[in-house]
Amino acid sequence: MKTIDQASFAGKNVLIRVDFNVPLDENYKITDDNRIAAALPTIKKILADGGAVILMSHLGRPKDGPTEKYSLKHLIPHLSDLLGQEVQFANDCIGQEAIDKAKELEPGEVLLLENLRFYKQEEKGDVEFAKKLAALGNVYVNDAFGTAHRAHASTSVIAQFFPDAKYFGYVMASELENAEKVLNNAAKPFTAIMGGSKVSDKIQLIEKLLDKVDNLIIGGGMAYTFAKADGGNIGTSLVEMDKLELAKNLQQKAKDKGVKLFLPVDNVVADKFANDAQTKIAKTGEIDDNWMGLDIGPETIKLFSEVIENSKTILWNGPMGVFEMESFLVGTKAIAEAVVKATDNGAFSLIGGGDSAAAVSKFGLTERVSYVSTGGGALLEYMEGKELPGVKAIND
Ligand code: AMP
Repeated sequence: MKTIDQASFAGKNVLIRVDFNVPLDENYKITDDNRIAAALPTIKKILADGGAVILMSHLGRPKDGPTEKYSLKHLIPHLSDLLGQEVQFANDCIGQEAIDKAKELEPGEVLLLENLRFYKQEEKGDVEFAKKLAALGNVYVNDAFGTAHRAHASTSVIAQFFPDAKYFGYVMASELENAEKVLNNAAKPFTAIMGGSKVSDKIQLIEKLLDKVDNLIIGGGMAYTFAKADGGNIGTSLVEMDKLELAKNLQQKAKDKGVKLFLPVDNVVADKFANDAQTKIAKTGEIDDNWMGLDIGPETIKLFSEVIENSKTILWNGPMGVFEMESFLVGTKAIAEAVVKATDNGAFSLIGGGDSAAAVSKFGLTERVSYVSTGGGALLEYMEGKELPGVKAIND
């Protein structure tokens, strides 16, 4: 793997694609700076070598060019604090200002470019746009795992302009190493925990995992498609009616491959999709009409926790219930605690990004698991066995 450890960057202008797509409140204050914090070691290594750093990122999903709300300038104060030095800013990621500011950079200085997605060419993977970005630096580093599954100008197309000077940053390197560890080097028993709203989003990963895991735990909204496929009553719970056959097939495949499949045995059901709903516990397949399952129940927590606590490798992707609402976070929290317990006992635990990472962070347990991925979609695609454009571009 070509990482920044294999080079010294003294005297170079190093273009780093980072993932600074952080949430901001209405006063443009950063509410979760994990993604910025994750990129610091890469930035600091290059500065310490005597290189100058040019940071490029997207923020949000701007639709019509430059928009105040999505300006990366809002990140300058916090980024300066974290780095302990001034951060310069170019109001446009390409064009004369960016060219001049990049040229004038001294070793040890940092320049942040304006939001890449103010140009439609970024997501289109436009070669001319990538070339303009490339002209700002003489080395390219990709440290944005969260967008590595996208063939965008700054994440993959740009790499062709740096045939001998392109590297993975530390975030990318550790993401790939940890994913590999789970996929190809898992200590047994290996348990995958799948949750979230839809089976359809995760079918490919589930199928792939059936060849690798000893235990497969399925919770969250997707479990009701399995309950329905088994002929149970699921009330108004989330269901994908066109995936019933698939749910049956997955159960059969698990059996054929000797994988133990665990589904919820009881559920917290609610009379509406709201935090102040009336709730009760219902057995799986016995949910009354007009009630919906929004979390796993206490018997299920016991069952799942025991499996998790006896595992040596754990991969978790997707919450067990609607954890964003206080009334339905108990199951997800209990599973997070079981993962922590297993980790304390020597298991390796990898938390897939997105909602599972948000849940673990909400419970203050991020530091208590082995690794929390910064990429939701990117991690899923990598684990499904797909070649990520952002990874391929550096490896080629
Ligand atoms: P995903 O993006 O597919 O990983 O799904 C995450 C979302 O699934 C979260 O926003 C959860 O609130 C939601 N979710 C989990 N369990 C349920 C459920 N039983 N019913 C509805 N939504 C759920």
